[in-house]
Amino acid sequence: MTTLLAEQHSLKARRLPEWFRQEVPDAQKIQGMKDLFRSGRLHTVCESAHCPNMGKCWGQGVATFMILGEVCTRACRFCAVKAGQPMAVDPQEPKNVAWAVAELKLRYVVITSVARDDLKDEGARHFVDTIQEIRKIMPATKIEILIPDFSNKWESLRMIVDARPEVISHNIETVRRLSPKVRPQAGYERSLAVLSNLKQMDATIFIKSSLMLGLGELNEEIWETMKDLLKAGCDILTIGQYLAPSPMPRHLKVEEYVSPQRFAELKVVSEKMGFKHVMSGPLVRSSFIAEEGYQGCLGQTKIEK
Ligand code: SF4
Repeated sequence: MTTLLAEQHSLKARRLPEWFRQEVPDAQKIQGMKDLFRSGRLHTVCESAHCPNMGKCWGQGVATFMILGEVCTRACRFCAVKAGQPMAVDPQEPKNVAWAVAELKLRYVVITSVARDDLKDEGARHFVDTIQEIRKIMPATKIEILIPDFSNKWESLRMIVDARPEVISHNIETVRRLSPKVRPQAGYERSLAVLSNLKQMDATIFIKSSLMLGLGELNEEIWETMKDLLKAGCDILTIGQYLAPSPMPRHLKVEEYVSPQRFAELKVVSEKMGFKHVMSGPLVRSSFIAEEGYQGCLGQTKIEK
């Protein structure tokens, strides 16, 4: 039995192409995950960003933690996460995340956050604390962090690199021309500089980024973005379809539903261009089956030695 997962989002669902059909999620499993996160006062980007893969990921006991609260200081026009005045940072959160990672027995975990432009280090220290708490009780768990741009502050990026997560991700999100419209408080060049600085600080950590399609980007602009990401030192790329979080004017409309065949072609082409691992598909998100990207890079790194 299948259903359009996005039926939960009523009107939008009627216009989604059939390739967004997914298995009915295991309601009991989903509720169990929700209860776990609520009891640890934790947030996930899966819920906050209305991710269409929740049934699949949570059904397998996998989630992406969103630290530093659930209110973002930026208001990107593709994103469902609440924007506004952020809450005080919970000093217990790093320990609580580590506890949940242990409860879920995660061998690979992705941690992201809202943007916290209100904090001096924009939240970098809190990421480090979270990595360290996970290492204390789950030393074998591999850690991927998906960071905001930290305004490209060297000391914040340095702190993150020194904590040595296996993968550091920062999303370019869209092509150069559309960046000011899609994420007005960020910047295409700034994101490239963040990726490049991370790679320069430690070339042994895998660097990852993510691109959304369906916002009106042109083919040549996609190639340009891929080349820019490679030049910045990006190892892993994910490419997925943009889905509007709501019909509100704050959120951009979908300009195009890119076919699964086109996503498959982009994977082949971008891997030929030089990325170590690419995941590309309508439902691919930055943290979707993230361990696969890391393992793919490891395989390549061994071959190259
Ligand atoms: S793809 Fe990532 S954000 Fe979406 S449900 Fe899976 S783990 Fe959560």
